[in-house]
Amino acid sequence: MALIKSNVGTSLELVASGKVRELYAIDSKSLLFVATDRISAYDVIMENGIPEKGVLLTLMTAHWFQYLQQQIPGLKTHFVSLSLPSSLPRDVAEQLKGRSMVVRKLKVFPLEAIVRGYITGSAWSSYKKTGEVNGKKMPEGLQESQEFPEPIYTPSTKAELGAHDENITTEQAEKVVGEKYAKQIEQLSLQVYKTARDYAREKGIIIADTKFEFGLDEETDEVVLIDEVLTPDSSRFWPKATYKVGQSQPSFDKQGLRDWLTENGLKGKDGVAMPDDVIEATRSKYLEAFKILTGKSLQESMQNLN
Ligand code: ATP
Ligand code: MG
Repeated sequence: MALIKSNVGTSLELVASGKVRELYAIDSKSLLFVATDRISAYDVIMENGIPEKGVLLTLMTAHWFQYLQQQIPGLKTHFVSLSLPSSLPRDVAEQLKGRSMVVRKLKVFPLEAIVRGYITGSAWSSYKKTGEVNGKKMPEGLQESQEFPEPIYTPSTKAELGAHDENITTEQAEKVVGEKYAKQIEQLSLQVYKTARDYAREKGIIIADTKFEFGLDEETDEVVLIDEVLTPDSSRFWPKATYKVGQSQPSFDKQGLRDWLTENGLKGKDGVAMPDDVIEATRSKYLEAFKILTGKSLQESMQNLN
């Protein structure tokens, strides 16, 4: 059974609920960051979920935080622990286990820090029309799915629930968060993307593009990597084995779901329930990506949790 909404009774105070996650207060400095099994496509949440998807997103994010902190000295993340607060009743703990992360509560920068290594999706549509991506001229003659000579940073605004994010230029991003932080966010996004890209490529996955979020530790004035990172929800993952420039790519992410919605005229509609075959196909793609990137099956990783 997929968990659509966590039921914690009076055990925890809900402070925010996003398309996928529920954030609960632990104390003034920390949050319990819970991933449900909800899935969104084209910014709309489906009625039903993908069983264990929340566990997969949480454990994959934890895997990346650990790897990135080893590789990038000084990188700050919001990750504290995968352990649950010991005060939780057993039934609540059972429900939240594996899908929850204790994180530092931070001031979220209202920016989606998108990095693109390959030209696809909205960047490809824009390039075909204007030769530009986020207002910047790109090299001539790029083909669909081609790798950019260097990864590009294409920030967007972080829209409220129900609204769509809007692409902005790096100059506009500086206006939104201030020049100093905007530069740090850009530099960190590119560095984290490149580190992850090289790791994933070695394992057989191309990270075509991805989205990061950052927060500010107001006590130390440090920019901190927050949210989920480098999951199939926040990234486009392509199998390296079948990669071919000049066409669209099969992928490990929600592309199957997006295609099903488009083919059935359901793109952007509310209240859509996915049929079993779409759930299964999406689930198996997520599980496959997890195994390739972490080296362990989701079952094995869950068993390693205390
Ligand atoms: P989607 O990711 O599908 O676009 P969403 O952006 O609405 O959905 P969720 O992933 O469901 O968000 O929920 C996570 C929310 O928690 C986001 O609004 C994110 O900015 C916020 N968040 C992430 N890390 C922290 C943190 N350390 N402190 C405070 N808020 C955080
Ligand atoms: Mg999110």
